[in-house]
Amino acid sequence: MAKKKATKKVAKKATKKATNKKATKKKAAKKKTAKKKTAKKKTAKKATKKKVAKKATKKKVTKKATKKKVAKKATKKKVAKKKTAKKATKKKTAKKKTAKKNITPQKTKNRVVKRKATTKKVAKKSTKKSTKKTAKKATKKTTPQLSFDPKAHSANLFDSLLELIRMTSAELPNDVQKVILEALEREEKNTSAEYAMNIIKANIELAMKKSQPLCQDTGTILFFVEHPAGFRQGDFTKVVHKAVIKATEIGYLRQNSVDSLTGENKCMNVGPGHPDIHFHEHDKDTVEIRLVLKGGGCENVGAQYALPHTELGAGRDLDGVRKVILDAVQKAQGKGCGPGVLGVTIGGDRGSGYVHSKEQLLRRLDDENTIEDLATLEKDIVSTANELGIGPMGFGGKTTLLGCKIGVLNRLPASYFVSISYMCWAYRRHGIVLKKDNSISKTLY
Ligand code: SF4
Repeated sequence: MAKKKATKKVAKKATKKATNKKATKKKAAKKKTAKKKTAKKKTAKKATKKKVAKKATKKKVTKKATKKKVAKKATKKKVAKKKTAKKATKKKTAKKKTAKKNITPQKTKNRVVKRKATTKKVAKKSTKKSTKKTAKKATKKTTPQLSFDPKAHSANLFDSLLELIRMTSAELPNDVQKVILEALEREEKNTSAEYAMNIIKANIELAMKKSQPLCQDTGTILFFVEHPAGFRQGDFTKVVHKAVIKATEIGYLRQNSVDSLTGENKCMNVGPGHPDIHFHEHDKDTVEIRLVLKGGGCENVGAQYALPHTELGAGRDLDGVRKVILDAVQKAQGKGCGPGVLGVTIGGDRGSGYVHSKEQLLRRLDDENTIEDLATLEKDIVSTANELGIGPMGFGGKTTLLGCKIGVLNRLPASYFVSISYMCWAYRRHGIVLKKDNSISKTLY
């Protein structure tokens, strides 16, 4: 019995265990299912989110598309409106034209009268305004206008320049003629010197009479222009070029300027550096134009010395200057078509010295240097040179130089240049002063 009871208890325990196991299994199964459900729910949620996002993007795209469509429609409408507006304006203008055509003469008269009246009113107003303006201008300080305008009166300027070129090419200035005639008187009769000077005299007279060049070499064309502030140099230069070309065509100037590299002659006397125009602004309200035609032969015997010059024993003083000038005269003998005139500059650099020495040739032969030492030196050079016996054309005689003009420029302590420009007997130099309309007011020299 006891055994039976024990076995029953064991059996009960086993059944309990079994039931417990089943219960736990059921719980586990339940948990699994719950997990699965939650997973499913999550995936479902995600899917719905995606769907929502897709829908949103679709909506956006559609919105944009609709906006574009709307915009297109609007532009189409605008274009259509414009077209209609144009048509309307065309119609209006057409109507106006027809209306004009249909207007009776009386109506047109009335309109003309009205128009005249309005134009008169406008004219009155404008005249009032202009008078007020001019009155204001008059009361204000007068603004300086260009006194000399090369462009405004270019025809007058052209004529003035052409006349200056003719005059310079054909006529020696009075001060030069006077000195040449005096030199002729000094030469001994029946000598080569007198013969040469007589030929020069005859040449001068013939050229002036025929208004033809004094010499076959019409030389380098050197303009020196003094002008007030505001003078338009570019416009002036253009007119100078035209005048030079014309003067060359006419024959006042020889076709004398060639390309330095190729030797080509364009027969115009115009090219780089030619004519050579030097502008100087001055305080006067005048334009003064000086022209020098400088022959090639005499230009060739120009010279520049750097002092001290040991060979000549020339130091850096006026005695040294004197020595080198006389040396240049000696070296030029028989060349350069003497009797000559010297333009000399003490100082400057090599470039400015030569330019300034040419500017000395603008001085009258009978003027006196304002620097006393230089005035003395100028006279000394001429008298000494004329005692050298070189004479006109190097034929011997009493006239080697007609004049000597010496100027001075500042220099560097390291340099002491003496620049000498030699001018032949055909000392072609003239000048004009312009009127406001660019015609010639008076001649210089
Ligand atoms: S140097 Fe004078 S004179 Fe002699 S050929 Fe030339 S321009 Fe004529």
